[in-house]
Amino acid sequence: MVEGIKVIPENCKGCKLCVPACPFGAIEIVNKQAIITDKCVLCGACVGACKFNAIVIEKREEAPKQDLSAYKGIWVFAEQHAGHTQSVAFELIAEARKLAQDLKEEVSAVFLGSGDLKGQAKELIEYGADKVYIASDAHLKDYLTEPYSEVIVELINKHKPEIFLLGATTTGRDLASRIAARIRVGLTADCTALDIDPDKKIIRQTRPAFGGNIMATIISPNYRPQMSTVRPKVFKKLQKDPSRKGTVVEIKPSISQKSLRTKIIEIIQSTEKKVNLAEAEIIVSGGRGIGCAENFKLIQGLADAIGGAVGASRATVDAGWISQFHQVGQTGKTVSPKLYIACGISGAIQHLAGMSSSDIIIAINKDPYAPIFDVATYGIVGDVLEVVPAMTKKFKELLA
Ligand SMILES: Cc1cc2nc3c(=O)[nH]c(=O)nc-3n(C[C@H](O)[C@H](O)[C@H](O)COP(=O)(O)OP(=O)(O)OC[C@H]3O[C@@H](n4cnc5c(N)ncnc54)[C@H](O)[C@@H]3O)c2cc1C
Repeated sequence: MVEGIKVIPENCKGCKLCVPACPFGAIEIVNKQAIITDKCVLCGACVGACKFNAIVIEKREEAPKQDLSAYKGIWVFAEQHAGHTQSVAFELIAEARKLAQDLKEEVSAVFLGSGDLKGQAKELIEYGADKVYIASDAHLKDYLTEPYSEVIVELINKHKPEIFLLGATTTGRDLASRIAARIRVGLTADCTALDIDPDKKIIRQTRPAFGGNIMATIISPNYRPQMSTVRPKVFKKLQKDPSRKGTVVEIKPSISQKSLRTKIIEIIQSTEKKVNLAEAEIIVSGGRGIGCAENFKLIQGLADAIGGAVGASRATVDAGWISQFHQVGQTGKTVSPKLYIACGISGAIQHLAGMSSSDIIIAINKDPYAPIFDVATYGIVGDVLEVVPAMTKKFKELLA
């Protein structure tokens, strides 16, 4: 693990070889000495370029080696709000089942909350968990970083899972990073695909990188558990099976005083009328092609006519036409409705990253070569301002 970089003054000749070698323009020569500025990202390009061994990257001590064979099973963090298990937990269990088949291991879910949690545990088993660890305590009723991470770190240290998956939600992102830092393992955030390397039997975690222009596949070969957060709606949950049997393990959580520095005083529900985009079965999305903020009324009209929710491309959000809450895509929400209608959306890779797994995609665009047509089930080449009102009218007639 890299900690820092330094120039050894007695070795540095001020030859400037390192200056063009640095892709980040992070090296200046002052009084015949190389100075590394805070633009440095520790890529190490200058180290190889220096002929005088004047630049060194200092390494921090590695975390102690683990006995990897002691780690078994795939764990899923079962996120809850107000006691209700979030859909992402069921989606992750479904994916964990596939990974478990390759590894021939069991799938466990971890549910933290307060009161009697046996009903939630049963539901997690019905959706595919073999074992559910439940920890009930008044301090675990609502999510708080410190008590949740303390309880889960203790569980991980005791039971040693090989893989630990969390939803890339606000809660999951916060919790995963805290846990990974405490147990000194890597974390691949915001994954969109997971699979098992058939030879090494480790998880391959795929996520968009460099602004979504490439997909990076990341492995954590040396430490356990291998941790990932996964975007909601990337995987589909299994059919609920009430006949499934599993084991419920009740944990008596011990929460230290130092983990109780913050408390939730009140939860205030937003008064903004919010559609649950991630759960919507029909989404009508508007892009820059609709022309102006006012025309989102047409998108809303079509959505209302067919019982759908309104989505948007980032271009329209950036233009201030609609709130970020509606944004679909890599930096917005990942959705997987039965029907997605893309109106005046070009189909940039970052938009597709959030909606291409929709069952049926209808694209309306005046440009027949727009990339959105490559993923569309049905394409309508035409002016969105004519096509959308016509569709709304027809649907209203048909559904009256
Ligand atoms: C790091 C990063 C993250 C990003 N994240 C996201 C994200 O989460 N979501 C997202 O959406 N984008 C995201 N983007 C932006 C993305 O690259 C595109 O810029 C954006 O999706 C374009 O939005 P658009 O399709 O509405 O606009 P445009 O690309 O401008 O497309 C407008 C389309 O409308 C069509 N059109 C114009 N007039 C009409 C008409 N009258 N009738 C019919 N069609 C018409 C045009 O032919 C065109 O195809 C991200 C970019 C980066 C770099």
